[in-house]
Amino acid sequence: MLIDSHCHLDMPLYDADRVETIARAREAGVELMLEIAGSDISHGSLDKGLRLADEFPFIYAAVGLHPHEASLYDDALERQLFELSLHPKVLGWGEIGLDYHYDHSPRDVQRRVFRRQLEQAIKRRLPVIIHTREAEDDTTAILRESWVDSGGRELGGVMHCFTGSLRMAETAIEMGFLISFSGVLTFKNSEGLRQVARSLPLDRLLVETDCPYLAPAPYRGKRNEPAYVCATAAYLAVLRGLELGEIARITTVNFRRLFQPH
Ligand SMILES: [Zn+2]
Ligand SMILES: [Zn+2]
Repeated sequence: MLIDSHCHLDMPLYDADRVETIARAREAGVELMLEIAGSDISHGSLDKGLRLADEFPFIYAAVGLHPHEASLYDDALERQLFELSLHPKVLGWGEIGLDYHYDHSPRDVQRRVFRRQLEQAIKRRLPVIIHTREAEDDTTAILRESWVDSGGRELGGVMHCFTGSLRMAETAIEMGFLISFSGVLTFKNSEGLRQVARSLPLDRLLVETDCPYLAPAPYRGKRNEPAYVCATAAYLAVLRGLELGEIARITTVNFRRLFQPH
């Protein structure tokens, strides 16, 4: 049994076969999915992911505004996110962070919105799910100041779809974070990332799909879905010299320790 710690099943790409996609995940042994709701609010309502959590006992949710959309953040949206976060199946605040690769929102706005959402997560006592791309130094600095030194550390969090350096991973672990690997781990040009995955303590690891994006080998290029988290977990197992069942057990225990689904 595995957990997909990060999926976007609310996206329109699943409108035609969402129920079947979820059923395939269950058949593949995915016992729980964490739906990252509202990360793409331009495509739908903020609470679409929460309705999935209402419908399926094994789907839980996180709410937050993706750094791509940071320009849309205002007091009203913040209140709306906070209210949604009170839903009993919301386990985390995210995904939030900084993306300097796409720069869909200005960097200073991204930084301000990142800080504000960290404050909200502390107020709501939720772990955070961090998206960071080409922004390691600013991410670390903001997490130190607005999370670790502001009372967030004990709540914990995840560096999702990790693609950073070993130094970044170790810094994040020091700050109380888990490191989640996606299908990127299986890509041909990811040798550096594989080196990171080999080096980290097992009790800090998670796996995810980040579907519909980043399908792992051998599905690369296709629409991703939660069932494929098994391919990433199997790959990680080989990297660590463990059985798939052992990686499944370890990552499931890690997820449950952090998010405490009921
Ligand atoms: Zn992300
Ligand atoms: Zn995501």
